Amino acid sequence: MMNRLDAGLRRLVATNLIGMVFVDLAGKILDVDESFLHTIGYARADLPPRIHDLTTPEDRRLDDEAFEKLMAFGACAPFEKMLVRRDSSLVPVLFGAALYEEEIACFVVDLSQNKQTQEKLNHLAYHDALTDLPNQVLFKDRLKQAIAMSRRNDQMQAVLLLNLDRFKTINDSLGYTAGDRLLQSVAQRLTSCVRESDTVARFGGDEFAILLTHVPRAQDAANVARAIKETLDQAYLFDDQEVFVASSIGIAVYPTDGRDTASLLKNAGAALDRAKVQGGNNYQFYTAGGTTRALKQLVLESNLRGALERSEFVVHYQPQVDTRSFQLVGMEALVRWRHPSLGVLYPNEFISLAEDSGLIIQLGDWVLRTACEQSMAWQDAGLAPMRLSVNFSARQFQQPTFISTVADILKETNLDPRWLELELTESSVMKDPEQAIEKLHELKLMGIRVAIDDFGTGYSSLNYLKRFPIDTLKIDRSFVSDVCKDPHDTAIVRAIITLGHALDLTVIAEGVETQEQLQYLSSLECDVLQGFLFSKSLSASAFEELLVEHQQVVPFASSTV
Ligand code: C2E
Ligand code: MG
Ligand code: MG
Repeated sequence: MMNRLDAGLRRLVATNLIGMVFVDLAGKILDVDESFLHTIGYARADLPPRIHDLTTPEDRRLDDEAFEKLMAFGACAPFEKMLVRRDSSLVPVLFGAALYEEEIACFVVDLSQNKQTQEKLNHLAYHDALTDLPNQVLFKDRLKQAIAMSRRNDQMQAVLLLNLDRFKTINDSLGYTAGDRLLQSVAQRLTSCVRESDTVARFGGDEFAILLTHVPRAQDAANVARAIKETLDQAYLFDDQEVFVASSIGIAVYPTDGRDTASLLKNAGAALDRAKVQGGNNYQFYTAGGTTRALKQLVLESNLRGALERSEFVVHYQPQVDTRSFQLVGMEALVRWRHPSLGVLYPNEFISLAEDSGLIIQLGDWVLRTACEQSMAWQDAGLAPMRLSVNFSARQFQQPTFISTVADILKETNLDPRWLELELTESSVMKDPEQAIEKLHELKLMGIRVAIDDFGTGYSSLNYLKRFPIDTLKIDRSFVSDVCKDPHDTAIVRAIITLGHALDLTVIAEGVETQEQLQYLSSLECDVLQGFLFSKSLSASAFEELLVEHQQVVPFASSTV
């Protein structure tokens, strides 16, 4: 046993994993090994005489305590301390000692590697890997500290949120590597614009935040914002190509615009929105009182009309699959607005505006024409034809020219009417049910299918439902989302499916997000499913890939296995 221990110790010492030093009871160094010399950076010849000479004054107390324990118990538990190297730098070590016949045998483990790794990890946790700027966590921490300080000395702080205008376009056109380099340059330029005591952080993507501490007047924050913009507005060079990038900044000031980190960041965000709404390439202060929302509406309204001419709308397509086979059986056309400074806007942000302003008529026609053309292009390319659902607003449906417009577009695009399904909401057909019945009959005669969208949220009298010549019921997302949890919703979904089947209608569930919902809906014999579990809405090119590659869309969770 002893032999093995001896051999083991020798091996450990030989690998330099630990260093050894022997001292007498007064601390005089008697002997050391190579590993110890290596750790402290001394040659044997110029080693100082006493172990204390290698200790920092701060660690003397630790040494004294260890010595007491050594005297009392014959050994001391290992502890961390610093040793002073020959070049006066410090090295963190684990230090332990045992008494052996009037001599003290000490071992030393160099922890600097360990500490460096630890520090690196720590750094990574609080910094952005691409730009090495502080990340959101560290920024919030600094902001919190600054606020705590300000409470004491009553000083103003400013939070600036900055976003590059059209960064996505740059990324798309120059490639991700150039995009990354651009973000790094932006980080450098931002840092050059502020004082040492300020913090520049990257929150992710093209979102940066700046904390200006001790701002004497709000105007000073504006001056910095202006300087930042001027610096960022300078050309960036990529392979001899000059690239210009505009930016937008939102400013919130402590204490007037918020007294804690959350509200300051939120309000700086609102100010940034305002800068974007005003076309980007400017900075804005936060203004209280919810003016932002109203302003956004106003700007959207005035932008909406031109948007169609400027080709800012796009149609996306969401797959619909057969419940039993997951076979792709249809697609729903969903419109998106690629706003030049606000990014992609979803229908809930602009459809009602378009309805109020009447633009929904032109927009609706455009969506129908685009979707029919696309569908026809796919068929011409030899891809399997399938049902195309297009949403219609009540206002479109009520137009006297509604039927003829649909007929014209079908004729123009050459799409066989049997592939087209119009989605009308329950409320749009129930506004004037008698007139609706007439129109629906005309659609039927043309060979077009009709679906009632968001079914269950309005109030269709069963009597009318029987008389509407429709083909499909779409169960509203709100019932589907709780179908497994809320017994009322389960009952409603079951009732809609039974009712639909009794009337010989296809029943589609929309907003299917989970495996449980899928299981439930399939046990209730719902015919068709649509939802994020299968796919989000896709751009025309992404949908085309789907058409080419699979005729089947597997639910998300099982497709990843
Ligand atoms: P909708 O006709 O009920 O369309 C379904 C909406 O649910 C779409 O939202 C779709 O993206 C979303 N959705 C689909 N699957 C899921 C899911 O699993 N989970 C969740 N949470 N949502 C899901 P989107 O595209 O924002 O459209 C919203 C509404 O805007 C549509 O509701 C439709 O009423 C209207 N809309 C969209 N495009 C047009 C259009 O071209 N014309 C008219 N008039 N209305 C449109
Ligand atoms: Mg719909
Ligand atoms: Mg719906």
